[in-house]
Amino acid sequence: MELYHNQVTRAQGAFSLRMHHRSWGILMIQANLSAPATVLDFPTREIFERELLEHQYDIIGISSIVVNVGKVREMCRIARTVSPGSVIVVGGHVTAIPGLEAMIDSDYIVRGDGISWMRRYLGEDEAAPIQHPHLPSSFSLRVMGIRVPSGWNSPAATIIPSVGCPMGCNFCTTSAFFGGKGRFLNFYETGEELFRLMKEMESAMKVRSFFVMDENFLLHRKRALELLERMKQEAKSWALYVFSSAHALLRYTIEELVELGVSWLWMGLESPRAAYEKVKGIDTLRLARELRQHGIKVLGSTIVGMEHHTPENIGGEIEHAVAHETDFHQFMLYTPMPGTPLYQEMTAQGRLLDVPLADIHGQYQFNFRHPAISREDSQKFLDWAFRRDFERNGPSLFRICRTTLEGWKRYRNHPDPRIRERFHWEVQNLKGAYNAALWAMERRLKHTNDVVSRQVRGLRREIEKEFGLLPRLAAAFFGPVLLWTSGREDRRLARGHTYEPRTFIERRNLALARLERA
Ligand code: SF4
Repeated sequence: MELYHNQVTRAQGAFSLRMHHRSWGILMIQANLSAPATVLDFPTREIFERELLEHQYDIIGISSIVVNVGKVREMCRIARTVSPGSVIVVGGHVTAIPGLEAMIDSDYIVRGDGISWMRRYLGEDEAAPIQHPHLPSSFSLRVMGIRVPSGWNSPAATIIPSVGCPMGCNFCTTSAFFGGKGRFLNFYETGEELFRLMKEMESAMKVRSFFVMDENFLLHRKRALELLERMKQEAKSWALYVFSSAHALLRYTIEELVELGVSWLWMGLESPRAAYEKVKGIDTLRLARELRQHGIKVLGSTIVGMEHHTPENIGGEIEHAVAHETDFHQFMLYTPMPGTPLYQEMTAQGRLLDVPLADIHGQYQFNFRHPAISREDSQKFLDWAFRRDFERNGPSLFRICRTTLEGWKRYRNHPDPRIRERFHWEVQNLKGAYNAALWAMERRLKHTNDVVSRQVRGLRREIEKEFGLLPRLAAAFFGPVLLWTSGREDRRLARGHTYEPRTFIERRNLALARLERA
């Protein structure tokens, strides 16, 4: 899936970060079975069909999100036709759709934790320790019209310490999927366990940064602080990219966050008038500013179309959101997704609209009757929020360069070598490719947004003053190339070009299968 461009940087044209992420759920299931298992990630219809024709599978598992229910239906149909002896199991968020049983031809529909379900079904040990596969955080990174070579910029490893979130916000699909309010599932209970996992990945994958795929990682304070202790003991200067609610974040000092290596943070801001516990009474403007001043890149997330929004007040709320000047900003329509408490509420009130499931994802139009905003206008306000954020704050690439420099200036001489080293490592890219990107960005924006163009120039000059000849040379030689490629990219996007992930086929425990056949 493509996360950033779909719901974060989608209005940023050629400056948008384009990258895909693997389907971690099915990779986790595969790694935790002793039975032979093959993962087809992002298969085309032809590849899926060929795989079933060429191999005999006892079980065919299909995982999907809600919008892809039509693809699931078609995959079930193909599986029944090509491999009639197989058992078909469907899992993932698609299973939250009420009445799914009647829409698809499957034998089982599995909600929640697929690892234990599949282990149970196969008669394997459900309580066996979790084996974490080696998961690069993303692939096919593309920015300013250039496909970034894999391995550049030291990619991060994904780790999944827990799934679900006990906060149980009414719209949250991941929380609902793993049990809802008060519930979550820990794959790793202690900081020591996490530390061992990260150390193993550091050496096997040659990484020093980790994308911590946990809905609310910092909520588990004891585990996070234990991890910090172990990092200190072994002098690990790792960078962590985490999700956290604002109230969980406030249970740490900024020193603890920096020591823990928190370098990027996804935080729900939702709305200044939202009643959610996680933001109640918190000055999120001040919080976001403080984090950035300490070199922590912030991805803020705001909801468009909450119950209290009206055409009159929504502009003010969008202004409030972009005033956070976060490095990235996600805007999402308030969306009753199947399985969530909000969906149940809207169903009970008879306010759900009859719209195709493929259009229910929060990035198009409302799927419910709003008291003050029409379906068509919901799309206009959402698009406006993305455009306004881009207009006021500029490309996210520029913003992360600015926050990175802030962090380096503050911590470059920190007495703790672990902290110092991380900030020196993070600033490396500013001296080369990123400065060239700033050079091109400055020129691209000159005629459309002179205010931001001048801010970009100011940052570029500061980088060149701090780091001397290298960033100047990078800008002089590589900047014009990026200027041309980003222009070409904008023209390509204007023609409707999209990027699709390639298919991955990964087989596991096949030696065991051959042995059993022999
Ligand atoms: S805090 Fe975030 S992850 Fe947790 S339930 Fe609320 S929206 Fe979901």
